[in-house]
Amino acid sequence: MKVDYRTTLYKDDSIRMIEAVKHHFCCEQMGEALDDNFIGFGEFIDSILNQDTAVNIAVCHPWPEGAAWDFTQINFCPFCAAPIKTEQISK
Ligand SMILES: [Zn+2]
Repeated sequence: MKVDYRTTLYKDDSIRMIEAVKHHFCCEQMGEALDDNFIGFGEFIDSILNQDTAVNIAVCHPWPEGAAWDFTQINFCPFCAAPIKTEQISK
């Protein structure tokens, strides 16, 4: 799979947000995993200011006060073993 992403900058050139623009899926299962929201680009759950350029698996840790999410980078598709790449396409 390959993900094209773009970075939005503040006026002082610090990175404001990184967001996926287009997903090039390697297999049908990867598309379903993104639809089901357990694999995604960056910190894709409960994050409005993503700073992460990796494709991650999300793990939920439920607490009485609310859920916390951990994101673990994956470098290969867990379904078809294709390499996962990300590329910045514009600023
Ligand atoms: Zn795949």
